[in-house]
Amino acid sequence: MFKNYNQDQFERLFKTDNEHQYDVQRVHEKLSIHSLKSTLSALSIDQMTDFLEYQIQDNHYVCLFYESFFDGTIKYIDSEKLQSIILWISDQKKISPIYLAQFQEYFSLDYKDPRNWKERFEEFIEVLLSEDKHQILNYGKEYISQSLKLHEIKCNNIACNHQINASTRLNKIRYELNNINPQEQLNLNKIKWKGTQKQLAELFIELKQNRWIEEYEYDTMKACFTNSNSIQQVLKPTTDTKTGGNDYDQVYTATYEPKFHGIKINPKPK
Ligand SMILES: [Zn+2]
Repeated sequence: MFKNYNQDQFERLFKTDNEHQYDVQRVHEKLSIHSLKSTLSALSIDQMTDFLEYQIQDNHYVCLFYESFFDGTIKYIDSEKLQSIILWISDQKKISPIYLAQFQEYFSLDYKDPRNWKERFEEFIEVLLSEDKHQILNYGKEYISQSLKLHEIKCNNIACNHQINASTRLNKIRYELNNINPQEQLNLNKIKWKGTQKQLAELFIELKQNRWIEEYEYDTMKACFTNSNSIQQVLKPTTDTKTGGNDYDQVYTATYEPKFHGIKINPKPK
């Protein structure tokens, strides 16, 4: 992807020309991915952290700067040096190098792949652990926005393919982020319910009938309690045709022994 960048774009990607020891050096008066390669080769492994810290300070394209270390050209530098850089990035972003190495194909707007992006992306994220997923989707949002901003430097077309791709991809990522269970996002633990699912259902029916709670949402209950996977089936009310009230015949079966009878009516429901 860095092959097609012009000088303006490289100047945003790398700090250069400040006569600082960690500036990226031009090669034959030009900036390119080779400039990064020769700069890295001239520095020692002990200077890598300082180099990276200097380069990312006030850099608005950090994701793309990090991506440059995964470019084919850079893999020819000393491998120990490259490993130390990648581990440093991984540590900064709390993302495993295994995932960092794949981001170009999902987040770069310059990446060409004949296969449908949405399908490829869904395959990639469906196997992620939820804590990684949250981190990676947020990084993807940043990456795509930066990729678009850098593209706009050389393109004035406000409805070009890059623009369209960026907005569909960002929407998809936002959608996936919303789908992550809020309890997983916050790293909350479910309350361990030590009764049966029916008993949990009974508790909520009793609380509601005695006016301690309003409506309950099945998804909220599932997110809060263990042993609640099919609570919506158990709690589903059927209307009694004679009284017009609700029956919970999945709970109060002939053999069921109620456990929460005796909960008093809330005298002053708020
Ligand atoms: Zn464009």
